[in-house]
Amino acid sequence: MTIPPDVVLEDADCPLGCPRSDETVLAGRDRLHGLPGRFQVVRCRSCGLMRTNPRPSPGTIGFYYPEDYHPYRNTRVAGPSGRLGALKARIKPLARRFFEFNGTRLPPLAPGRMIEIGCASGGFMHQMARTGWSVAGVEFSAAAAGHARDLGYPVHTGPIESAPDPAAPVDLVVGWMVLEHLHGPVEALRRLHRWSRPNGWLVLSVPNAASLEFRLFKDRWYALSLPTHLYHFTPGTLQRVLNAGGWRVERIFHQRLLGNIAGSFGYLLQDRRMLPALARWLRKFPEKSGLHQYALFPLACLAALTGQTGRMTVWARRES
Ligand SMILES: [Zn+2]
Repeated sequence: MTIPPDVVLEDADCPLGCPRSDETVLAGRDRLHGLPGRFQVVRCRSCGLMRTNPRPSPGTIGFYYPEDYHPYRNTRVAGPSGRLGALKARIKPLARRFFEFNGTRLPPLAPGRMIEIGCASGGFMHQMARTGWSVAGVEFSAAAAGHARDLGYPVHTGPIESAPDPAAPVDLVVGWMVLEHLHGPVEALRRLHRWSRPNGWLVLSVPNAASLEFRLFKDRWYALSLPTHLYHFTPGTLQRVLNAGGWRVERIFHQRLLGNIAGSFGYLLQDRRMLPALARWLRKFPEKSGLHQYALFPLACLAALTGQTGRMTVWARRES
């Protein structure tokens, strides 16, 4: 399948300003939606940062984010329906705290001002606002941003580069699974630096391309998400990119989740044309939150201890 003519591919250098010297890591395609095109992941020989190159340009990459892109949907805030819904809404945060997946773990901070980049439909902002935070968001998808605004929160629609500076410096910037989607991560981090108060916090999560999952599954790794993931970080390269953007890494947590492995097995079965019903179920697995996560928790803890799970959360602070 060839790329449609309205998608423009661009060639990009390493964002850390290294001299051009790349090695090819792998080639793959969009497995999430089955959209056309074949893409390469390359590794910069100087700094080790992996990136998708060439890549769809900022103006045309929207083709690979269809309306049913999962994060736009799963951050919708739905009122609990009936008694069971209300009970679930109460139990879920407690269960999450008990199991500590580390996914959206924040430093201990008193409520203040927060901006979420890539806030999707506003689920996390809503959660923070209910604990006393003053929240705002930036979101690329107009439809998702509209849902977040309907909840009453100020949301800028468009890329981070087009977002105006906040009226006052913020205490906390968060971005869940968003840095890897940005064309200019260093510029974006510098912008977030400018928006923050001195010593302000930045909390991000990204896939971990140093994980066993990535080494095992390669182009079938669920979190590779070509071509929407433009960068494929390891703890080391994430740190370098954050430093270049003016941030000092305080901690890196390996998330206690193994959903990517199920999704990757789904892709493997799909390629081998085996057990189509199981393959479909496995491919949808990472998007589901529920009992399976809890069932895999002991194993996920072990994998996280050795830094082998497919996602990491980083806490960083603004340098000077
Ligand atoms: Zn480099």
